[in-house]
Amino acid sequence: MISSPIEEIKNRLDIVEVIQGYIKLHKAGVNYRAICPFHNEKKPSFFVSPVRQRWHCFGSCSEGGDIFKFVMKIEGLEFGDALRLLAQRAGVELKRQDPVLKTQRQRLYEICELACSFFQKQLKVSSLGKEARDYFLSRGIKEETIDNWRLGYAPDMWNSLSDFLISRGYIRQEVEKAGLALKSQKTGSYFDRFRGRIIFPIFDFNSQPIGFGARIFKQTKRADGQDESKYINTPATLLYDKSSVLYGLNRAGLEIRKKDASVLVEGYMDALMAHQAGYSNVVAVSGTALTSYQLKTLKRYSDNLLISFDMDLAGNSATKRGIDLAQEIGFNIRIVVMPEGSDPADVILKDPNEWQNLIEKTKTIHDFYFENALSKFDRNTLEGKKGISKILLPVIKRIPDKIEQSVWIQDLAKALLVKEEDVSEELRKITFGPGKEVMPEESNYISKDYCLSKSRKDLLEEFLLVLAVKSPGNLDLLKDQDYNLFSVRFCQIVKYFKEKGIGNRDSFPLGQEEFLNLIFTKAEIEQSDINPCQEFEKCFRDFKVLTIREKLAEISKKIKEAESENNYEMIKYLTNEFNSFSKFRCDLENA
Ligand code: ATP
Ligand code: MN
Repeated sequence: MISSPIEEIKNRLDIVEVIQGYIKLHKAGVNYRAICPFHNEKKPSFFVSPVRQRWHCFGSCSEGGDIFKFVMKIEGLEFGDALRLLAQRAGVELKRQDPVLKTQRQRLYEICELACSFFQKQLKVSSLGKEARDYFLSRGIKEETIDNWRLGYAPDMWNSLSDFLISRGYIRQEVEKAGLALKSQKTGSYFDRFRGRIIFPIFDFNSQPIGFGARIFKQTKRADGQDESKYINTPATLLYDKSSVLYGLNRAGLEIRKKDASVLVEGYMDALMAHQAGYSNVVAVSGTALTSYQLKTLKRYSDNLLISFDMDLAGNSATKRGIDLAQEIGFNIRIVVMPEGSDPADVILKDPNEWQNLIEKTKTIHDFYFENALSKFDRNTLEGKKGISKILLPVIKRIPDKIEQSVWIQDLAKALLVKEEDVSEELRKITFGPGKEVMPEESNYISKDYCLSKSRKDLLEEFLLVLAVKSPGNLDLLKDQDYNLFSVRFCQIVKYFKEKGIGNRDSFPLGQEEFLNLIFTKAEIEQSDINPCQEFEKCFRDFKVLTIREKLAEISKKIKEAESENNYEMIKYLTNEFNSFSKFRCDLENA
C-alpha cells in the first residue's frame, strides 16, 4: 500500500524532536511538558505525547493537534507551506504541482532562492564580483563564511537579476512582488532594486532566503551628488517582514538552546563575524527597532538574553527601548558593554578573545543603567540629580518585581544623597504616555472571551477591516466574486472605503458609525509589529474556509431534504453545487 506523503512525513519525523526545535521541552513521565508557546503563561501546561505523536495545551488556549498543526501555528504557515517545510525536513518528495496552482508565496520563495544563488555566483565567479570578494576578505570574512551564509554580489547593472529570473519563467510583476525589482513611475519599466552592492541574504527558520540586505562597498555618489545609503533592504513582501525576522536565527537556534542564552547585535556584519569566530548563539536585528515579536521568538529558545547594542541611553534610544521590551517580556538581561565607538564586528576582527572577555564581563541592567546615568551628570549638583533621575526613574517604574524595585529605589536615593521616600514620591508621579509600546495580552489577535459574544466570522470580518484601515492596499485583494461571501455590512463598508478613501471619517454610512469607530480605534491600538498584508491574506483565507464550510453544511442539509422528497432534479443540481464548493475548499486548503 502506498501511504500519502502526510503519513509518510509523520512516520519519519518524531513530534518531540520537531517541537524541541522550537521550544524547550522537559520530560514529564512518558510525556513532555513546556510553557505553551501560543499563549502567555507561567506554569507549563503544554504537553507532547510521543506515543500518540500529538500535542495539547491544557491551559487557556486549549489548542492541540499533530505535527502539522504545530508547525502551522508556530511558523504562521498555511497547511501547504507547513507540508512543504516538513516534507523537506523528512526527506519526503512531494508530487510536482501544476505550476498554475502554485501559490504566489511559493513562487516568491522560488524567486528568492534563485536570486540568492544568482548573487552567490556573481560574487564567486564573475570578474565583476572580484572587488566585492576583496571587500569581504578585507573585512575579515572568510571564504567558508561566504559559502555558509550564501553571501553574494549584485552586479552594477539595471536588469541583470530580472533578466535572469525572466529566463527562468517568472514575470516582472512577481520579481517586483519579491522585492527584487522596482517599477519606474515615469516609463513604467522595471529595474533591479539591488545594484552594485554586496548581498546578505536573510533566511527564514527553515533556511530559505526570504529577503536581502544590500550594502555599498565603495564610495559612490548618486546622480544628485548625495551619498548612497549604506544599506538597502527588501521591503515588506508576502514572505519578508523585517520586524519579525532575526538575522542568523536559522543558524543560531540550536546553540542558543545549548548555551541557554542568546546574544543580540545590531548589524549583519556583527552576526557574521561572531559566528565566524565560533560564537554561534548570536543574532541580529536588521536595521529596525527590536520588536516584541522578535523577542518572543527568542524567548522560545532561552530566557537569557545578552544585548550588545550601541550604548546610547539618551532619550528614547533603540537600546533603551529594546531593554524595556525585553524586560517586560521577562528576559534575564545582561548588557555587553562595547568599547566606545566600536561594534562587535570591529572587536572580533581585532581580537576574538576580546569579545570573549566582553561576553564574560556583561553587566546587569541595574549596573549598566546606574553607571551610564551617573557618568553623564554630576550628582552633587541639583541639575545633575535631576538628569540622573530623569534617566533612572522611568526604568525603575517598569520593574515588575516590587522587591527588586525597592532595591533600585534605595540605590538611587543613596547615589543622589536624598531620602528614599522622596524617590518613591517622584516615582509615583511617572506615567507612561501613548508612545509606550503596549504589550498584547495574547499573541493571538482574537482573545478568547471576546469570541464568546461574536461569531468567528464576525470577528474575522472585523479584523479584515482593521487591517484594511492599516494598509488600504489590502482591499485590492478582494475580487468581485468574493463579495458574495461577506455580510451586507462588510460590503457596504468596503464600498464606502473605496469611494470615500479610508482617511475620511466625517460621513460614515448611516447606522455604521459605532461599528466604524470601533474599527478605527482597533486599527490604532493594533500591535504595531504585525504585517497587515500578510495578516490580511491569512485572515481572508480563514474566512473563505469558514464560509465554504458553512455553505457545504447548508447544501448537504438541502440535499437530504430533496432526497426525502425524491426531487431528483434538485438532488442533481445540489450535488453539483456541493462538488464545486468542495473542490474550491480543497484548492484553498491545499494551496
Ligand atoms: P558595517 O559594520 O559594515 O558598517 P553593519 O552591518 O554593522 O555594517 P551598522 O551601520 O552597524 O551596519 O548598522 C546596523 C544594521 O542596521 C545593518 O546591518 C543594517 O541592517 C541596518 N542599516 C544600517 N544602515 C542602514 C540604512 N541606511 N538603511 C537601512 N538599514 C540600515
Ligand atoms: Mn557595524
